[in-house]
Amino acid sequence: MIPAQFDYVAPTTVEDALAALQEAGDDAKILGGGQSLLPVLRMRLNAPALVIDLGRIESLRGIRDDGDAIVIGAMTTHSDVLTDPIVAEHAKLLTEAVSHLADPQVRHRGTFGGALAHADPSGDMGAPALALDATFVIAGTGGSRTVAASEFFEDLFTTAVGEGEILTEVRIPKHTGWGAHYEKFVRVAHQWPIVAVAATVKVDGGKISEARVGLTNMGSTPLRATSVEAALVGQPATDEAVRSAAASAAEGTNPPSDVNGDSDYRRHLAPILTRRAVLAAAGA
Ligand SMILES: Cc1cc2nc3c(=O)[nH]c(=O)nc-3n(C[C@H](O)[C@H](O)[C@H](O)COP(=O)(O)OP(=O)(O)OC[C@H]3O[C@@H](n4cnc5c(N)ncnc54)[C@H](O)[C@@H]3O)c2cc1C
Repeated sequence: MIPAQFDYVAPTTVEDALAALQEAGDDAKILGGGQSLLPVLRMRLNAPALVIDLGRIESLRGIRDDGDAIVIGAMTTHSDVLTDPIVAEHAKLLTEAVSHLADPQVRHRGTFGGALAHADPSGDMGAPALALDATFVIAGTGGSRTVAASEFFEDLFTTAVGEGEILTEVRIPKHTGWGAHYEKFVRVAHQWPIVAVAATVKVDGGKISEARVGLTNMGSTPLRATSVEAALVGQPATDEAVRSAAASAAEGTNPPSDVNGDSDYRRHLAPILTRRAVLAAAGA
């Protein structure tokens, strides 16, 4: 289908984008890589009067080392995240997860910030960002504010980015030396996950000393499997110990039912995928 008619602007600064956004109010939509927004417009599920393309704002692109954190600009493409050595060294979980996101074409257009702002519960970037304790920088006409990952994902397709605001960058605390793995369960290649588990662990002397586990598509937002994280600490990275710690992965979740599986099936998958993800992250 052809989208409904809209006006289009492509500002070169965040300030100009915010001004355009403020002027148009809720009649405007921000365009990142367009990989989720354009299908929505084409299906006429949304018909904004104005589309504000962030693609010409250079300051929103790129990855930098910022001391104890790495900073990823919202308009950085998935493929740039995938190939970046700073990400691979300090936030390997993102490299692992983004390698499973869609296909090369989508990864070349879609953006890190767009995927997170879109907040599709089956999106592959939310759980790793949550597990890594990311902080989100959100700009509005009154200045910038930061929001912790635990506060960022509010509900299905709803984040802390308010009307008139733009997600500008994401800060990821360094997890240098941590093993990482993203275990994504799909029926066919390049599918959105039925369930996925993002795990990153620190192993000292054969024992897990720290663990972070994020769940994709086990509720309306990405979730942290905090009971699994606690149970893993101090355990040897063996199949038996990790299996036992992973058993509670579905605790407190509320997974959806859809054509790919019902919620009980997802609850069944979560501990299995968690065990696989943690063992792979620990290099066992
Ligand atoms: C065929 C196909 C397969 C896919 N498979 C997967 C998959 O397996 N896993 C997965 O995770 N994703 C998948 N995606 C989606 C992909 O990850 C998109 O890149 C992502 O969902 C949206 O990023 P985008 O930059 O394209 O954002 P857009 O589509 O441009 O925008 C998405 C939404 O976010 C808002 N937005 C964008 N940028 C900002 C910003 N900086 N600040 C505030 N709001 C913003 C827009 O207004 C819009 O509401 C797939 C997409 C396609 C087309």
